[in-house]
Amino acid sequence: MIQPGSTIGILGGGQLGRMLILAGRNLGYRFHVFEPEGPCAAGMAADLEVNAAYDDEAALKQFAEGVDIITLEFENIPAAVIERLAAIKPVLPGREALHVCQHRQREKDFLQGNGLPCVPFEYADSAESLTTAVAGIGFPCVIKTAAFGYDGKGQIKLNAPEEAADTDYLWDFLGNPPRAVVEKWIHHVGEFSVVCARKADGSKSTFPMAENVHAHHILHASIAPARVSEATQAAGAELAGRIADLLGVVGLIAVELFLEEDGSLVINEMAPRPHNSGHYTMDGCLTSQFEQHIRAVTDLPFGSTELHRPTVMINLLGDVWQNGEPDWAGLLADPRVKLHLYDKGEARPGRKMGHFTLLGDDIDATLDAAEGYFKKLSGE
Ligand code: ADP
Ligand code: MG
Repeated sequence: MIQPGSTIGILGGGQLGRMLILAGRNLGYRFHVFEPEGPCAAGMAADLEVNAAYDDEAALKQFAEGVDIITLEFENIPAAVIERLAAIKPVLPGREALHVCQHRQREKDFLQGNGLPCVPFEYADSAESLTTAVAGIGFPCVIKTAAFGYDGKGQIKLNAPEEAADTDYLWDFLGNPPRAVVEKWIHHVGEFSVVCARKADGSKSTFPMAENVHAHHILHASIAPARVSEATQAAGAELAGRIADLLGVVGLIAVELFLEEDGSLVINEMAPRPHNSGHYTMDGCLTSQFEQHIRAVTDLPFGSTELHRPTVMINLLGDVWQNGEPDWAGLLADPRVKLHLYDKGEARPGRKMGHFTLLGDDIDATLDAAEGYFKKLSGE
């Protein structure tokens, strides 16, 4: 067990790291953050922020030597870096989970190889093979670069054959990636996610399934409890637990799901870290995803994931700042609202700057009220 008072190293300096630190501080842990570009949102809440490149071997060594365990808030960390660090201190959730989740092809191979439900897909590694892959999948489909995508970046949706006529252009537009995945576009009836925490001894704790609303490929709102049957919620929890076991995760794994018209769940992707769709747990559940992650990596017993009340989380992207500083006092005039801002500085469109949650009684009414507050905040 990693006792409170120990130091946890975090790779990545974004808001997920910041919220991990704020949760872990309550348990008495100290934090060092490694982030190439500073100052960062996590660094401001940490005991130490290290700004160095991932190929700075001396800085990596010093970072690892200064902490008791290492975890991450960002999975796109080069494998060589993980290996170098893991030779000095334990890196959690572990190499296997990272290796699979940081690359869409390995992720799909993992799902398919284990008989888990996933989206029909084909691979491409050139403009020529893209033509074949798109023809194999049909329309609509979506091309995704295999590595380094997030918030819909590195993706192109194709609605009809005309849009796929010039694959040289499309491949160029994607930045000539080493590899891409072409997926069938799923006409789902909703998007959902389950965050599961797992400890080294294999014990697990799963959060209530969230129902997610996206806008322009970025998460806009999460709704808990998800408005689906108990059976669907249980099926989602079962899938997340199975994936956590198969990957040997120590920490969190978030599983994004599509619900199809026939009631079946299909896995979209996984993330081996706290997830935006789990932010509702900070106010909605007895234990947050961030605290549970800290408990998992330090080998403390899990806290209860029980949902206090129906909860809606709304993301605040930089777009909300387009007419200047939003009216926070107006938002907080409803005492059931909890506001979380990440202190990230410049509010660029599409940049995740904060979120708020609204805790209500009836989930539909809570969602309506939260959307109303969001519109007001955006000046609509
Ligand atoms: P990211 O890494 O950016 O989260 P995702 O693969 O999860 O990438 O895609 C972002 C969003 O785009 C999804 O949450 C979903 O709304 C939409 N999307 C992606 N792939 C598909 C698909 N095959 N069918 C339907 N919607 C999709
Ligand atoms: Mg996603």
